[in-house]
Amino acid sequence: MIAAADFNIEKVEHSKLSQTNLENIPFGKYFTDHMLEVNYEDGQWKTVEIKPYQPIMLAPSVAAIHYGQAIFEGIKAYKNKEGDAFIFRPHDNFRRFNVSAERMQMPPVPEDIFIEGMKMLVNLDKNWIPDFEDHSLYIRPFMFSSDEMIGVRPSDNYKFMIILSPTGPYYNTPMRIYVEEQYVRAVPGGVGYAKAAGNYGAAMHATAEAKRKGYDQVLWTDAFEHRFVQECGTMNVFFIIGNKAITPDLSTGTILSGVTRDSVISTLKEMDLHLEERPLDIEEIIHAHKSGTLKEVFGTGTAATISYIKELRYKEYVMEFHVDQWKIAPEVKSRLNQIRYGQAEDKHCWMLKL
Ligand SMILES: *Cc1c(COP(=O)(O)O)cnc(C)c1O
Repeated sequence: MIAAADFNIEKVEHSKLSQTNLENIPFGKYFTDHMLEVNYEDGQWKTVEIKPYQPIMLAPSVAAIHYGQAIFEGIKAYKNKEGDAFIFRPHDNFRRFNVSAERMQMPPVPEDIFIEGMKMLVNLDKNWIPDFEDHSLYIRPFMFSSDEMIGVRPSDNYKFMIILSPTGPYYNTPMRIYVEEQYVRAVPGGVGYAKAAGNYGAAMHATAEAKRKGYDQVLWTDAFEHRFVQECGTMNVFFIIGNKAITPDLSTGTILSGVTRDSVISTLKEMDLHLEERPLDIEEIIHAHKSGTLKEVFGTGTAATISYIKELRYKEYVMEFHVDQWKIAPEVKSRLNQIRYGQAEDKHCWMLKL
């Protein structure tokens, strides 16, 4: 496809790749040689620049820093045995990005910038996709308001960028989770369904308190009664109860509609599990645990794919799980990984080849 947008490509003179060891690289710390940057001015997107990864210069008055009109996405690229590169479901992230943009009163980014620009950028830095098991290239598109003006109003100017970060396995140890009853992440009518920067800053204090109590993350509950479970940190959450898989539904707008969540739902259905998307009460989870039918609990997201939960604490009640005996979550993870690394048929056409 010929991109309608104007692209201007400036390559690095010397790649940093030979000085970087990509094995077991920590998440989000290292960036590739190039980045994408495009400005929105006078009601339109200007020339897309793909250029050496470098700092950006901003005025102290730039609106995003003050009022948080800022959104992002997280996507991964994988390499198969033959060395071909693929991006996992980027069109789903593209659609979600513009849903977030609308909620934050920001202009939509056109597909020929988001998708075609991403493909060009990843292609240019393709050698940065690690070959090691469970490694990938994390793609971070983001947009922020860039008016140099501290009046509270939507900006006229925006900047959209994409940066790339090679990454190893994310949370590789099973997590201990604290069911949150004081702080809230999202309310109906709020921005919980948007990947808006402020959602993450707003969650950090509660997460830090859970960490002080010895937990890795919080399980968010609804704002009114602290009964209905929402998400686990920045991951969607699944419960295997009896022969059913249950995950909270998206209808109240308090849950981020994960691309991994959707992929896990498809995979569970293919495994002939009965799947329910519906409100899930913590009392039902406790009841299932007491009666021995609560089998597995796991979080899903692009960064970690699937994270096992080995302990869930609600008030004084502690639920522990024997992760090493689980059947379903490991099977889902393995099926998704096989598709991602080109070892199984990609029936859903999730992999976009570069
Ligand atoms: C990004 C994110 C997820 C996971 O979404 P994926 O598309 O699967 O990566 C879940 N919850 C929150 C709050 C998120 O920000």
